[in-house]
Amino acid sequence: MQGSMMQMPLNVSALLQYADRHHGDTEIVSRRVEGGFHRTTWRELHTRTRQLANALTMFGLEPGERVATLAWNGHRHLELYYAVGGSGKVVHTINPRLLPEQIAWMLNHSQARVLFFDTTFLPLVEAIAPHCKALDHLVVMTARAHMPVSAKLPILVCYEEIVDAASTYFEWPELDENSACGICYTSGTTGNPKGVLYSQRATILHAYASALPDALCMSSRDVVLPVVPMFHVNAWGLPYSAALAGAKLVLPGPALDGKSLHELMEYERVTFAAGVPTIWQGLLQYASTQGVRFTTLRRTVIGGSACPPSMIRTFEQEHGVEVIHAWGMTELSPLGAVSRLKARHLGLPKADQQKVLEKQGHAIFGIDMKIVDEQGDELPWDGKAFGELMVRGPWVIEKYFGIDESPLQGGWFPTGDVATIDADGYMQITDRAKDLIKSGGEWISSIELENHAAAHPAVALAAVIGVPHPKWDERPLLLVVKKPGAEASREELLKFFDGKVARFAIPDDVLFTEALPLTATGKVHKLKLREQHRSHLMP
Ligand code: ADP
Repeated sequence: MQGSMMQMPLNVSALLQYADRHHGDTEIVSRRVEGGFHRTTWRELHTRTRQLANALTMFGLEPGERVATLAWNGHRHLELYYAVGGSGKVVHTINPRLLPEQIAWMLNHSQARVLFFDTTFLPLVEAIAPHCKALDHLVVMTARAHMPVSAKLPILVCYEEIVDAASTYFEWPELDENSACGICYTSGTTGNPKGVLYSQRATILHAYASALPDALCMSSRDVVLPVVPMFHVNAWGLPYSAALAGAKLVLPGPALDGKSLHELMEYERVTFAAGVPTIWQGLLQYASTQGVRFTTLRRTVIGGSACPPSMIRTFEQEHGVEVIHAWGMTELSPLGAVSRLKARHLGLPKADQQKVLEKQGHAIFGIDMKIVDEQGDELPWDGKAFGELMVRGPWVIEKYFGIDESPLQGGWFPTGDVATIDADGYMQITDRAKDLIKSGGEWISSIELENHAAAHPAVALAAVIGVPHPKWDERPLLLVVKKPGAEASREELLKFFDGKVARFAIPDDVLFTEALPLTATGKVHKLKLREQHRSHLMP
C-alpha cells in the first residue's frame, strides 16, 4: 500500500525560498573582490536571484545546460548557485587554481556556453577562452564602474547590468528532483578530471544531514564562514545548509590569509568556520604571533585532508574552539563522516576523548560505509584491520558525467582511501591508497607520521612520502617547513618519533624546505613531492 503523503520534489530553490520567508532579515556579508564589504539579507538575495534567473533566459539555455563560474566566495557566486540550479540548469564551479589547460579541458568537457567570472580571473579567462569552443558568453561578476577592458575579449557582459535590468518576478519551476543542479570535477592529479553531477535531491538530503547536531550542528543562531571555496565541492554544501538552517553567512572573497580571516571573524562575530588544515595553519600562526584570540568562534570543521591532532589541541586549549574533524570527497557531495563524541564518551578523561576526536569519525545518516580487503571481502570493525573504504548513499556518485562505465563495485563506491573502523563505527583514514608506504612488506601510514611531526614545537607543516629504497622497496621521507624563527635538527626530529611509532616506521631522513607544494584544493601535493625526491635514498 502506498503512503498518502504529498509528492513534492526536493528542489534547491526551496532552500532559498525558506530562508527568505523565515530568516529574511538574516545577513549575508561578503568581502568584495573590488574592495570593501557587501551586505545583504536572505530576502534581498532571493530577490536578486530571481532577477538573475530571469536574466539567464537571455542566453537561451536549455534545461540541464551547464553554466560555469570562476569565482571566490561572495554574494554573486551564491546568487549563481541558486539561480542556475533552481531554474533547472547546472552550475559548473571551476577551481581557478588549476592549470589553464585543465580548466579549458573541463569547460570543453562540460560544454558550458556561459562563463561567469570575478575580475581577478580576467587574465585566466583571456588565456583559456580561445581554447573553449562552446563558450559564447562571458559575464564579469561586477558593476559597470569596475568592468575591465580586454583587447583579447572585446565582448564582456556586466553582471550588475543584466541583473538590474531583469524583472524580480520569477516562479521557480518544479523540477524533477533527480535532475542535476551542479557539477564539480575531481582535481585529476592522475589522469583527466572527472565530473560529478549533483542532483537536486542529493543536494537537499546532504544539506539536511550535514546540518544535524552530531554533524555540523548548524542553527539560525550561527554565523557561518565557509573558508572552503565555493569552487571546491560546493563549499562542503554550506551555501545550502546555511539556507536550510537560516544562518548568517560570511563570505571571505579572495582574502584567505590569517590576518584577513581573523579580522573578518571578529568583525562579523563568526561562530562557525570551515576549511582545510593548511588554511587554519595560516590563521593559527597569525593568532600566535600577534597574540590575538577568537572572541566569538565556537566550532570549526576541518577536513579535505587529515587534521593533525596538534591543530585540534591548539584550537581547543589555546582558543576554546571545538574542532569537528570531517571526512568527505567530491564524489560524496562531499560529507561522509564527522567526529563528534557520543554520550558515553563524555565521562572519559580528556586524552581519551581527544583520541576519538582525532579520527575522521562516524558516518552521518544517509552514508553507509564498510572496509574491504584486496579480494573485496569485508573486514571487521575492530579499529585495527585496515582496508579500502567503500561507501554508498543517496548523495554518493553512481556515474561520472559523460563516462558510461560506473565506478561502483557491487553497489558501493570505492573511495581509494584506506581506513580502519572501530567497534563504535568511528572511521580513521590510514592513508590515501597511493600515499601508503610499503617498506619491506610492512605498511606505514604517512598520515600517522605527519601527525607526530606536526606536534613538534618547531614544525609548521610536515609531509611524509614513500621514496624508492634499494633494500626495502620504499622508505618514508619527512619534509618539514619550520615555524618562523624556530630551530630543530634532523636528528632531533627523528628522535621525536622514538616510542611513538614502531622503529621500522621512523622516517629515513628529514628534508627542510621553505614551502610545500599544494594542490589546487590546498592539500600537500604528494605526487609532486614523490617525483622531486624519487632518487633521494637511491645509491
Ligand atoms: P581532490 O582533492 O582529490 O580533488 P576531494 O577534495 O574530493 O578531491 O578529496 C577527497 C579526498 O581527500 C578523500 O578521498 C581523502 O583522501 C581526503 N580527505 C578528505 N577529508 C579527509 C580527512 N579528514 N582526513 C584524511 N583525508 C581526508
